Amino acid sequence: MNALEKASLKELFLSSPALQEEARALEEENPHQGKRCNFLRANGECLVYEARPIVCRTHGAPVQAKGLDVEGETWVDVCPLNFQGIEISSLPPAHVLNLDTINMILAVLTNHGFRGDESRTLLSVGAILHE
Ligand code: SF4
Repeated sequence: MNALEKASLKELFLSSPALQEEARALEEENPHQGKRCNFLRANGECLVYEARPIVCRTHGAPVQAKGLDVEGETWVDVCPLNFQGIEISSLPPAHVLNLDTINMILAVLTNHGFRGDESRTLLSVGAILHE
């Protein structure tokens, strides 16, 4: 997650000591044996749902982006579990998130508030709160 997303999570934890405590306990408990996100509760709920990073917000939805291997080519993809039996090329363009646009907006907003900070942070309470 980038500096803006980290700031959002930091604000959430600082505003809720109970949530911060639960996050620490969840990391300690490690119900998914390190194979899933530190903030995924044992029951499958996201502990930080209201402040989750962009990648989480777009996960599972139909998305499109410019291809990395073929310059200029746009690919569209979906989570196959969410769209079984649907031909993805038949999805209306208005129902497909444009990741390039979303990432550009995120980069502009991040640059506005955190100019020069290219750092990435792991999803852990200690890293988010600079401990
Ligand atoms: S922060 Fe993202 S990856 Fe982690 S539990 Fe929440 S939605 Fe899932």
